[in-house]
Amino acid sequence: MQGLMMDFPLTITSIMEHAERVHGAQEIVSVTRDNPRHRYTYADAFGRVRQLANAMNAWGMASSDRIATLAWNDYRHFETYYASACSGYVCHTINPRLFPEQIVYIINHAEDQFVFLDPDFWPLIEQVAPQCPGVKGWVVMTTAEHMPETTLANVHCYEDVIANQPDSFDWPAIDENEACALCYTSGTTGNPKGVLYSHRSTVLHTYATMMPDSMNISSADVVLPIVPMFHVNAWGNPYACPVAGAKMVMPGNKMGDGPTLAALINEEGVTMSAGVPTVWLNLLAHLRSTGERVDTLQRVVVGGSACPLSVMEEFDTYGVDTRHAWGMTEMSPLGTSNSSGARRHQYDAETFANMRTNVGQPIFGVEVKITDDDNKELPWDGVAFGALKVRGPWICSSYFKLDGSSAHEDGDWFETGDVASIDSRGNVSITDRTKDVIKSGGEWISSIEVENCATGHPMVAEAAVIGRIHPKWGERPLLIVVKNGEGDVSPSELKAFLDGKIAKWWIPDDVQYIEEMPHTATGKIQKMKLREMFNDYQFPA
Ligand code: AMP
Repeated sequence: MQGLMMDFPLTITSIMEHAERVHGAQEIVSVTRDNPRHRYTYADAFGRVRQLANAMNAWGMASSDRIATLAWNDYRHFETYYASACSGYVCHTINPRLFPEQIVYIINHAEDQFVFLDPDFWPLIEQVAPQCPGVKGWVVMTTAEHMPETTLANVHCYEDVIANQPDSFDWPAIDENEACALCYTSGTTGNPKGVLYSHRSTVLHTYATMMPDSMNISSADVVLPIVPMFHVNAWGNPYACPVAGAKMVMPGNKMGDGPTLAALINEEGVTMSAGVPTVWLNLLAHLRSTGERVDTLQRVVVGGSACPLSVMEEFDTYGVDTRHAWGMTEMSPLGTSNSSGARRHQYDAETFANMRTNVGQPIFGVEVKITDDDNKELPWDGVAFGALKVRGPWICSSYFKLDGSSAHEDGDWFETGDVASIDSRGNVSITDRTKDVIKSGGEWISSIEVENCATGHPMVAEAAVIGRIHPKWGERPLLIVVKNGEGDVSPSELKAFLDGKIAKWWIPDDVQYIEEMPHTATGKIQKMKLREMFNDYQFPA
């Protein structure tokens, strides 16, 4: 017997309509190049979304055509998200930090019809446009007076595009399984692969991100998404905030800028923010050097790469709870979240410190398992570690236009490429990327754990551990450090600092210093590049 409930589609259009009707008066504040504090309401935003939808409609595109964005977190990017998805097109967000050749590849692979771009990326577009013959128009997200001078054809000004368009629009009915957004993963090898989100997966993921043990977003919140809208939809914040009716504060091109972030938090009363560890390092360094505080901030969600314990402990001193989360582009992105901070009073300091560095429990909707090399499932005992696999309604089933490329190698489980252990309560500890694991004498060393400890040293700004060939052990860990410029620290001091914090045999055999850490387009340490840089390195005899 079937249930007797309405078959009502889960769509981005329903998010928009709910937000306008219920939370129309709530504010969106943005930093843009043409206005350091643009502010308007959700009602204003969705009025402009309808103007943009009218303009897009006049361009004569077909349903599911791709509209690309190359933009920071701001209100025009937000409008483009909604106008394209609710019109039945696919909003393809492009990461401007990719190499120009990769950007050309993904624009052509996605067959983008129009590209919306922030004026900051104009030089990049002038460079790549001649190699993207399928693009029918380039829309610069600014006002007429800030338009770049150009000889390029089909260049439009965003504000002119929407000016004089009516602010009413008849939104099409959309099947919940239709695509709404596209984001390419920036793998370290081969071409980027497209992850194609559906309306349904996005709405379900939105519910998940708002749950109390997840990002806990409510109408009382003022949310500062520092995680970019050009990468995995800013972890779903541009959907969750309108659903909840939370005020949104968008930092534009000031994402990594400590002083601007502190000013936005204090001036706008930000209660919750989300970002990768690097942005928090910048904010904390700014607070440390100025003595400023961030008293309205209640919690930060940290993910994208491992969050060092030292970052969490420094946030404690400002009364800010750090939520360590894990996920990936293929997972929309949220998979797990560590909300143990809410229960810290139940534990002694050491137990709590141990509990908070893992990435927490799976969010309901995401199933996880770990397997050994023979695909045999490993126990959740907090000790065994193996390949981490996931499944659920907001996890990718196959990549866009890569026919036959199932994203799954183990039945219907998605292989994350991460190595992890899981404890009896489902807390996941990420040990490494599969290709970054270090095997010393046949035993695995968690480079992430060693890096976390090393980053706790006051003179260390960033740390990475890679495996290098060793005549006796096969591989041994080499610690690579960027100093924070405030003083010196010798290899023996660093090794002594690690002693007692990690297993003795995990302590790196040597330390090398570099000026700058190589990062990927999504801000992760580029271990492949480090392995190239230290290709000829040999451990001291
Ligand atoms: P991306 O698809 O670019 O978002 O990258 C996803 C990958 O980032 C994951 O597979 C992990 O390797 C890594 N990652 C994300 N969050 C964390 C975390 N909290 N700790 C460690 N690694 C993480």
